[in-house]
Amino acid sequence: MGILGRLLKRGETKSTKEADESSTECAHTRLHPHWDDLQEMGDDGKASSYRCGACGAAFSGDEGQRLIAEESKRVAEIERL
Ligand SMILES: [Zn+2]
Repeated sequence: MGILGRLLKRGETKSTKEADESSTECAHTRLHPHWDDLQEMGDDGKASSYRCGACGAAFSGDEGQRLIAEESKRVAEIERL
């Protein structure tokens, strides 16, 4: 493969990656709770932070609980239909 082919191939890889990133919008439905205080570990209402298992985004405890509440509400609405 010549240098031009290598450049073209690299260009393809880059554009494919960019397309994937822009088309993937994470709804953060796989949040993993994290506790700073070990005594509160296991109590979802007291999690100090959350991390999304899908995209790796980090959230504060309040944000994470709000996202989880929204998601469970959305699931409940779907199940009712
Ligand atoms: Zn996410």
